[in-house]
Amino acid sequence: PVDRLPEIQAARLKLPVLAEEQVIMEAVRENPCVVLCGETGSGKTTQVPQFLYEAGYASGSGIIGVTEPRRVAAVSMSHRVAKEMNVSTGVVSYQIRYEGNVTKDTKIKFMTDGVLLKEVQKDFLLQKYSVVIIDEAHERSVYTDILIGLLSRIVPLRNKKGLPMKLVIMSATLRVEDFTQNQKLFSTPPPVIKVEARQFPVTVHFNKRTPMEDYTGEAFRKTCKIHRMLPPGGILMFLTGQAEVHSVCRRLRKAFPYRPKRDQQEGEEDLAAELKKSKKKQKKTVWMREMRIGRPASTEDDDDDDEGSDLDLGDHPEDGEEKADPSIPLYVLPLYSLLAPDQQAKVFRPPPAGTRLCVVATNVAETSVTIPGVRYVVDCGRVKQRFYDRVTGVSSFKVNWISQASANQRAGRAGRTEPGHCYRLFSSAVFSDFSLFAEAEITRRPVDDLVLQMKDLNIQKVVNFPFPTPPSSEALLAAEELLISLGALEPPPRQGRMRELQRARMSCPISPLGRAMAAFPVSPRYAKMLALGRQQDCMAYLIALVAAMTVREIFQDLDRPVAKEEDSEGHKQRRARMAQMRRLWAGQGHTLLLGDLMVMLGAVGACEFAGCTPQFCEENGLRYKAMMEIRRLRGQLTNAVNTVSPELGVFVDSKMAPPTAAQVQCIRQVVLAGLGDHLARRVQSEELLDPKWVNGYKTPLLDEPVFLHPSSTLSKTLPEFVVYQEIMETTKMYMKGVCAVEAD
Ligand code: ADP
Ligand code: MG
Repeated sequence: PVDRLPEIQAARLKLPVLAEEQVIMEAVRENPCVVLCGETGSGKTTQVPQFLYEAGYASGSGIIGVTEPRRVAAVSMSHRVAKEMNVSTGVVSYQIRYEGNVTKDTKIKFMTDGVLLKEVQKDFLLQKYSVVIIDEAHERSVYTDILIGLLSRIVPLRNKKGLPMKLVIMSATLRVEDFTQNQKLFSTPPPVIKVEARQFPVTVHFNKRTPMEDYTGEAFRKTCKIHRMLPPGGILMFLTGQAEVHSVCRRLRKAFPYRPKRDQQEGEEDLAAELKKSKKKQKKTVWMREMRIGRPASTEDDDDDDEGSDLDLGDHPEDGEEKADPSIPLYVLPLYSLLAPDQQAKVFRPPPAGTRLCVVATNVAETSVTIPGVRYVVDCGRVKQRFYDRVTGVSSFKVNWISQASANQRAGRAGRTEPGHCYRLFSSAVFSDFSLFAEAEITRRPVDDLVLQMKDLNIQKVVNFPFPTPPSSEALLAAEELLISLGALEPPPRQGRMRELQRARMSCPISPLGRAMAAFPVSPRYAKMLALGRQQDCMAYLIALVAAMTVREIFQDLDRPVAKEEDSEGHKQRRARMAQMRRLWAGQGHTLLLGDLMVMLGAVGACEFAGCTPQFCEENGLRYKAMMEIRRLRGQLTNAVNTVSPELGVFVDSKMAPPTAAQVQCIRQVVLAGLGDHLARRVQSEELLDPKWVNGYKTPLLDEPVFLHPSSTLSKTLPEFVVYQEIMETTKMYMKGVCAVEAD
């Protein structure tokens, strides 16, 4: 029995899923797998685990597992459900990659999908769980897709063994045919239960013109107008990234300052400092070049698209900067996935009396979190995504149009509590060119890590795996080839006809080295480095290095808008200090050859030595969150290495000395073994046909040259051969994580 507080019980009763409890539980009882669709906010994530709990699914030996594609959701939902059930976090707990609060009493476990995938490797039958809920299946994250494929096999196996298990797939959209109508996945389609959400009508207002560049400015101006002219109700703005979110938050706070009273500690300390800051317009990056859509810079919209014309605020291309108006304070909060959890939690609390809530978010607010009280949505219609070029391996972040389904999801956020309005900063003609649905992530990224994990699960023919949406066969072949070259798979026979060879290559069994690699929770290239490092005396360095290479963006990006309390002079000093620290960390003499890798190692070492404090990170241009992740990953990798080869006795040394010349040599060899196909050679003088090629490097796969970033310590010496971690296209094709190697 669950002993809920009266106010919680009252709030629950208002949720649409509650009306369907019986239908849902009956379907679960009678079917091994059930699909549940319901609008965001209808109560799926918070309530369905409780239904299962109350029906006794956690009272036997098994517990209830819930997977989330995002860490934010796993953590915040476990807290919310514990609170609703009036139990401790020892009973309703979470596990994400680096941390968790699971105990032996845990009955409901929220986790990221990657965590459950790792558990499948340990126990294919997942015997710990009596039911697994795959949440946010519509997001089509890679791990979610793979888990659904695996569970479609695990559930029948469990039932055959007399250890029954249930699978519940939950989606915020009705588009579930990839799961239900996929014969390979479920031979009998699972029942689909639709929860009718109490959704209030949302009036959609399209812009007449579509700002192609300054959409953040347009979003700012639209929000100012809403705030000045429209009745109370929260505003939710969708932008594409953290830097945009911060810059718009700053402008809004300046326009409608809110001064908290002393006793309210709502964390607005930075406000005064912000007001002092000189008026400085932030130049926004121009994404034009990367917008795929081939529309003219502005399109006229039909007037009859704009219903409710009294609330139609029109376009406002150049209204200029707002004058500060403290009489109508706006309570502005950022929301994005890298934001610290205590900051994220603020969006769920009511805004201070006399203010209007305005949440400036990335697409995390699209489906994973429901913000109460939103009545107005301002949607820039774009999303930032990582793109990989399948052939060259070049990756880049691009801002692209969202799908129609996403745009409608975003609009829906405005109608949760009363009728609302959605302001789209694009025309209806542009909207009609959007793709209907977003592509599954698995079709957009390399799959070498997945293929290795599947081979480790003895799924030899990955092509036959029941993917909800299969990756392309080129992507699968590329993955197998990389794994063969890393020695993770047994090489295929060399003789035979083309066709047979091709087929043989697509079903190579895993090698002992591959097994060792699969034990490390990092991508195959880095796993190889750890597996090799065993034979040498540089394991501790390799662990630190692999941790640093796995955690992205360890340095603060000083090209972004300046941090709040600083003026531009302070900013200049910070950049100078960072450059100085990079030189210091790069070391002298033999360590210089390790280039960017030595800078990473030095940064990790220095940070650990200083106790990994936020202050040290701030002073030295490091991202605190990244450094904490590195710390945890280092611990995790050290344990993994000790499990495989206890004789090494590695430990996390907080006083790691710089590597000796012999160790540097060893690190470079091992790095080369992992990144062997990421070799680049400096453009030779006879190849210098184009001035663009000066100081460029040539890689086997690209016709165009690639470059060392000016911040790289190797950009002065320009060694003849280098290996790089990845190529990132920003203003130029830059190699990241570069290390010099010897020619032979
Ligand atoms: P769904 O999974 O269907 O999108 P949820 O179960 O996440 O729905 O949300 C149900 C309700 O619970 C929403 O109205 C949401 O605002 C509320 N809610 C969720 N998390 C919190 C929280 N941390 N604090 C307060 N309310 C919350
Ligand atoms: Mg949910």
